[in-house]
Amino acid sequence: MTTTLQNYIGGAWTPATDTFAARDPADQRLIAEVPDSGLPEVDAAVTAAREAFGTWRKVNPTVRAGYLHAIGNRITTREKELAAAVTTEMGKTIGEATGEVDKLAKAFHFYAEEATRVHGEVIPNDVDGFTSLAVREPIGVIGAITPWNYPLELIGWKLCAAVAAGCTIVVKPSQYASLSPVLLFECLHEAGLPAGVANLVLGGGKTGPAVAGHRGFDKLAFTGSTATGDRIAQGVPRAIPLTMELGGTCPMIVTDKADVTAAVAGATRRGFRNAGQICIAINRIYVHDSVYRQFVDGLTAAVSALTVGNGHDAGVDVGPMATAAGVEVVERHVNDAVARGARVTTGGGRVAELAPGNYFQPTVVVDCAPESLLMSEETFGPVVGVMPYTDLDTAVELANGTDSGLASYVYTQDLSQAHELGRRLDYGNVAVNNVDAGIMNAPYGGRKGSGFGVEHGKAGLEGYLQYKHIRIRYGAGE
Ligand code: NAD
Repeated sequence: MTTTLQNYIGGAWTPATDTFAARDPADQRLIAEVPDSGLPEVDAAVTAAREAFGTWRKVNPTVRAGYLHAIGNRITTREKELAAAVTTEMGKTIGEATGEVDKLAKAFHFYAEEATRVHGEVIPNDVDGFTSLAVREPIGVIGAITPWNYPLELIGWKLCAAVAAGCTIVVKPSQYASLSPVLLFECLHEAGLPAGVANLVLGGGKTGPAVAGHRGFDKLAFTGSTATGDRIAQGVPRAIPLTMELGGTCPMIVTDKADVTAAVAGATRRGFRNAGQICIAINRIYVHDSVYRQFVDGLTAAVSALTVGNGHDAGVDVGPMATAAGVEVVERHVNDAVARGARVTTGGGRVAELAPGNYFQPTVVVDCAPESLLMSEETFGPVVGVMPYTDLDTAVELANGTDSGLASYVYTQDLSQAHELGRRLDYGNVAVNNVDAGIMNAPYGGRKGSGFGVEHGKAGLEGYLQYKHIRIRYGAGE
């Protein structure tokens, strides 16, 4: 029997008028009927969130922290179920999905603690007898629109920070990942989060625009592609704060002073985890002439050794891609690179024996032309492009030469190069001799075409707060 999912609005599970079919990307079997929410459902969710905001904003931060800790604990208790849902709906391996659930629980505990550390300032006045208080207050009702590649974490960072700050929220997940958000909201419900504080509206093509175009929000927090972010930013119906976590094509520079073995391991991890469908995935790699052959041989060997299969199966490194459209982009980028003179050293095409699943072989393309799609646009699949460089200035110029500004990577054992590249790369995140720039404690965000605003860390919470200046004349002249 097919599961029929429901929206979560005002603390209750509610069906929508329209539905659509969700399919498993590993084999295209039907996995759920999902609400295809429209304006009536979004209206109801915004009304519930607005009503709840009146109360939630005044709830003591220590009480808000208690709810967030309780939700984090529920997530840990239901870890296996949540992870399995992620693998089923979008294909990542069960090991990676379990890691995502673990990080989601940590986000709830992190923001539970941060909720109790929000404070303002007392500001000196230039006139005696006055005092100025700068206090922090929640922004209000938040609209959150999220993608499918980290379906839980990308809801979590917004929801945890918003709820910790005293905001209420309406979440609209991707149509390609609806199972795990429902389980997450079950955890919220089980933890007793008051009705209306967090609401879930599921849906396909009409739901995102219904959220983005609604006048009832005080802020929109979006994670997704640059094209959708641009569309949303151009269409918001009134001037409200926006957070835009968008796409990019992330570069890696391997210098003449690199530990090449470490660089190969880094490129394999950050290029092929989640089948390369990570906003901070390594897309294009610039390698110094002197270590080019060694790097290419090492990467080709490491990537050839990756096992492709259903993410639920043990020993699988790379699962199916989430969407058929995604496979087409990868195919187009590989073919374009080859047409411009590049060589495929491993992989290069679909996995015919796993059809109709959305499988693409882990692929390395070398000797790429800088203007090829692989080296200039987001590929978002299990493929990396590699090209040699002679002088570091050229590598920096190429790395900075797109509209992308999310994450960049450097491998070098030379301290001067590490500092120099850390500063010269025009990216919100630069990871040197590692490929894990996004940690819970530090601000994470993009620049240029990769968006603006940050998530993670204290700065992530501040995005849901606004200042109020209270100036009091108390009369005393001292
Ligand atoms: P997408 O832009 O297609 O969709 C993202 C969300 O927006 C989905 O919920 C979708 O239904 C909704 N949406 C689509 N059109 C809309 C519209 N016109 N108005 C309002 N909402 C609309 O992106 P995707 O394919 O789900 O995700 C992959 C993209 O997300 C990649 O580009 C990736 O780099 C990016 N991403 C960025 C980050 C980051 O932190 N910067 C993190 C993860 C993913």
